[in-house]
Amino acid sequence: MTISDLNIRGRRALVRVDFNVPLDKSGNVQDDTRIRRALPTIKALLKGGASVVLMSHLGRPKGVSEEFSLKQIVSHLEGLLGNSVQFASDCVGDSALDVSQNLKQGEIALLENLRFHEEEKSGDEFFAGQLAENGDLYINDAFGTAHRNHASTAVIARFFPEDKAFGKLLEGEISALSKVMSNPARPLLAIIGGAKVSSKLTVLENLVEKVDKLMIGGGMAYTFILAKGGKVGASLVEKEMVVRAKAILEKAASNSTEILLPEDSICADKFSADANFVVFNSDEIKENWMGLDIGPKACEKFAAAVSESKTILWNGPMGVFEFEACSKGTFTVANALKDATKKGAYTLVGGGDSVAAINVCGLANDVSYMSTGGGAMLEYLEGKTLPGIAAILD
Ligand code: AMP
Repeated sequence: MTISDLNIRGRRALVRVDFNVPLDKSGNVQDDTRIRRALPTIKALLKGGASVVLMSHLGRPKGVSEEFSLKQIVSHLEGLLGNSVQFASDCVGDSALDVSQNLKQGEIALLENLRFHEEEKSGDEFFAGQLAENGDLYINDAFGTAHRNHASTAVIARFFPEDKAFGKLLEGEISALSKVMSNPARPLLAIIGGAKVSSKLTVLENLVEKVDKLMIGGGMAYTFILAKGGKVGASLVEKEMVVRAKAILEKAASNSTEILLPEDSICADKFSADANFVVFNSDEIKENWMGLDIGPKACEKFAAAVSESKTILWNGPMGVFEFEACSKGTFTVANALKDATKKGAYTLVGGGDSVAAINVCGLANDVSYMSTGGGAMLEYLEGKTLPGIAAILD
């Protein structure tokens, strides 16, 4: 179900967006990517003759507080839309209904932070029903929270059995992920990095059955290198994960999936930007030294594997890219993705840190799709059904 399947003219579209943006101490929006990504949906609804009621969470408030009020983003949103935006000081009850029920065609309103009510996160049905009174149609455009069974992301859809749809952002996210996971152009390569193997283990277990090549970088690579009998010095390892890491390596061998681990590593004598840095083979790291980035040989191999692939999924940095001396691996992969995209590969990047790395390299427009979901994307890749998606399809 998409917006074009709905009869929207003259009706109030209640849209769940993800306006959970970083604010500075004075309440100014520091990065408006999430707001910008919701604009196509808002504009399509206005163009089709609807009025628009926006609802979102912001941060993790404990009760009502100025610090987490969505009022702070109203002027920024107005600037991006070129329209005025009415603000309701609560998301349910009279103050919300006074605004949403008096909205005229072409007008826009924003409701106060959903998480000022704890019923939002608990998925309370009565609260979802109160929210539903603010619209005649329900549109979910918040991929970042699609893996949550919250009142505004999933439960509310019950109140709109015939009048619910995905927004354009969520539609784009689903189409990008299914391009990679169902019937991709091959070879299909997944690049998974980041700090902890435990947080992405289920994803790796699922991907190893689907991809042609699985590239593992970042801190999580050392648990795999340890599982293969290597010496990893003081690198980040999760000993209790070694057994499952071994099982993934065995599954890869029986599926003919190629696993790429970094052959060498940039190692440091302390976890600091001003440490001493030396290159070791990743399975021969000296005691007290820790691998903080993939090394020069690994960079070359990883870039070559990217270049040979037709579909590429990337989640998680190759090293502690926040330290300049350990950023080369992540930036090499980012640039290799750009070149592969130019050659016709389909490239999908997700997860806060990989998206940040792509942005630092100025390559946001040089990959096929940048996902707005970290946790949601990982759960999708684990093979789970996301409640926010299921609720629209039901
Ligand atoms: P994640 O949230 O799991 O994607 O992890 C991202 C974090 O992993 C970043 O802040 C990186 O600094 C960190 N990271 C990447 N490689 C390593 C490494 N070799 N050792 C320790 N931390 C790492």
